[in-house]
Amino acid sequence: MQNYIGPELVLQKRQQYFYPCTSHFYRNPPQIVKGEMQYLYGHDGTKYTDFFAGVSVVASGHCNPEIAERTAEQLRTLQHTCTIYLTQPNVDLAERLAGVLPGELRRTFFVNSGSEANEGALLLARLYTGRRGFIALEQGLHGRTYLTMSVTGLSMWRTDPELAHDTDVTFIPRPHERGVSADEAGRRSIEALKAVLAEKGGEIAAMIAEPIQGNGGMITPPDWYFPEVKRLLEQYGVLLIADEIQTGFGRTGRMFAMDLWGVTPDIISMAKALGSGIPVAGFATTDKIAASFTRPSASTFGGNPVSSVTALAVLDYIEAHRLPERAVRLGALLRGGLERLAQRFPQLVSDVRGAGLMLGAELCADDPQRGAELADEVLEAVKDRGYIIGKNGVNRNVLAFQPPLVITEENIAGLLAALEETLAGL
Ligand code: PMP
Repeated sequence: MQNYIGPELVLQKRQQYFYPCTSHFYRNPPQIVKGEMQYLYGHDGTKYTDFFAGVSVVASGHCNPEIAERTAEQLRTLQHTCTIYLTQPNVDLAERLAGVLPGELRRTFFVNSGSEANEGALLLARLYTGRRGFIALEQGLHGRTYLTMSVTGLSMWRTDPELAHDTDVTFIPRPHERGVSADEAGRRSIEALKAVLAEKGGEIAAMIAEPIQGNGGMITPPDWYFPEVKRLLEQYGVLLIADEIQTGFGRTGRMFAMDLWGVTPDIISMAKALGSGIPVAGFATTDKIAASFTRPSASTFGGNPVSSVTALAVLDYIEAHRLPERAVRLGALLRGGLERLAQRFPQLVSDVRGAGLMLGAELCADDPQRGAELADEVLEAVKDRGYIIGKNGVNRNVLAFQPPLVITEENIAGLLAALEETLAGL
């Protein structure tokens, strides 16, 4: 075994040299030293089955050899030139993406992170429409940069609004409300959207939304919601930006989650899973909208050969292993198990929601503070049984399940048993 410094010293160094705002999961966090498909390993050799960290290597698992080999080969051949030079991997990737993107979306601007992709998408919408305003959903999360934080509704991801936020943003309620049916919550959100559009639709460039809110607590709208949103926005010439940064590339059972409801957005932002851990992101749109980005624009790292080859390998892997179909099949299995736990522990598990392998189980919805405490306990106990799961939601009381899509039936059975034992012990 290598000489690892151990989690206590890692924590100490973080406290000493990182910004104080840097947070971490767990009372006793492991030091993760190795990844292998759906597994992560601690410094002491402990093996964890990953049902959450994989949100960023969504499809293909940690250090997938079929992908890592191609990344390594590219690193040895041509590591870097920026987009002002002609190279092949980024054009191959753009062409490949055009083949999986919906409708007439066929141009991609490559960047390096989700925040940067959304920032570009928002700016593009302003340039195309000549308008400044944005509509965003309450409790959404879109990034850490100036514009993206301004359209982020989740309070824990926002900073001082006076100092750091763009003011041309109107938030509307998301299609989810405690104690209200999904249809009713959806209707309330649509009424709010109609009111904003009626008041100032001509000043709004775009609405940005996650198809399923991830950090907001796996909020899954009723089927009719996004088709209705799109119809209304079109009446006012307002663009729809789909933030597919968590949902994209198979996790929900479709390449892009808006496809669950047959909606084609005007701009799609993508990141995380596309690079399977290597930074690669982009925002895609139609010929017509892309034409409004007229300033000369190159990105130092966006579309670099190593990232592009990795993304191509990821897309190959998703296709060859039919990962979206796998997400549907295994997602149904995990969901069924979580629903059985909700029936067995109705006083603990209030709701199970999501799509494919993007699932959430809300704890004690009527007493979210207790739910948040329980979520922490469950996370810790399940980790000690060898499973990594996440938590999110406005109140941090939603257990989150977003494993790499290579997860197996046995992994799911093991996790459900660990969860059942943990919940029974609470
Ligand atoms: N949008 C969504 C939906 C996200 O989940 C995230 C990251 N959690 C971002 C944007 C920001 O991405 P990044 O951290 O790569 O900047």
